Amino acid sequence: MAYKPRFESDELKILRYLNKRIVLSEKDKKHYLNLKKGYEGEVVFDVLTEKLSCDCLILNDLLLKVNNTTFQLDTLIITADTIYLFEVKNYVGDYYYELDKLYKKPKKEYTNPLHQLNRSASLLRQLLHNLGYNLTIEAWVIFINSEFTLYQAPLNIPFILPTQVNSYLKKFDMIPSGLNGKHMKLADQLISPHIEESPYTVLPPYTFDGPRKGITCFTCDSFAVSVRGNRCVCGDCGHEEMVGSAVLRSVEEYRYLFPDRKITTNDIYDWCQIIKSKKRIARILDKNFNIKGFGQWSYYD
Ligand SMILES: [Zn+2]
Repeated sequence: MAYKPRFESDELKILRYLNKRIVLSEKDKKHYLNLKKGYEGEVVFDVLTEKLSCDCLILNDLLLKVNNTTFQLDTLIITADTIYLFEVKNYVGDYYYELDKLYKKPKKEYTNPLHQLNRSASLLRQLLHNLGYNLTIEAWVIFINSEFTLYQAPLNIPFILPTQVNSYLKKFDMIPSGLNGKHMKLADQLISPHIEESPYTVLPPYTFDGPRKGITCFTCDSFAVSVRGNRCVCGDCGHEEMVGSAVLRSVEEYRYLFPDRKITTNDIYDWCQIIKSKKRIARILDKNFNIKGFGQWSYYD
């Protein structure tokens, strides 16, 4: 199991919630879909690294800082002698490489992930040096999507193409064991300064009255959900969910979308729309949160 597992970022979560509740601008929508696609690619790679049986520590999704520069690493694998750094790309389509540049056919230039990889590797080297470690770093770009093709890739470039990923990872079986306390300490050091909030987060502005309110379906995101007894039933796909769990799911979205607002019965009643009784909302909140304050000033934590 990964020593540090990967989670969906707050930014992606919030954009996912917003996407069903407001009309995102073209730019925000594109940003959201890019983040989503990138995350999905990383998860595909995680499934493969999970299967590694060698003596290694896998750290996913690290946000690190060295000399005031923040950098993000998709996947890091610590073995006895070497640290493997992977930048995962979920590109789809026909690309070609020309004079250190990456293009999508017919001719749209993309940022060459090699530059990002080199920057990350160099910053990681500095960080390891500062922490007093002397381990070799091997850095690779992994193109994870089987529908990605790269023409004219130079032979010496550290790119692993979709058809090479499995055979590349097989080599890890041959890696000698030898992890010790020093490696564990390094892993813990890399995790501990992990900055939770990414400085790159870009969200569109919105207020409580902006996003469409209502409980959405767990499976299809539809707003055509109605309450029948103790269940919420989706009018589009027929999915049924216990009212309590549907309300808690909505509270979760509310918390991410409005981190500065307190959880109150009135707000959640308003946010859910389809629960006709405030008492029912209060009962669900009572059961799952701690109540703070008194009377009309009370809220949940
Ligand atoms: Zn549905």
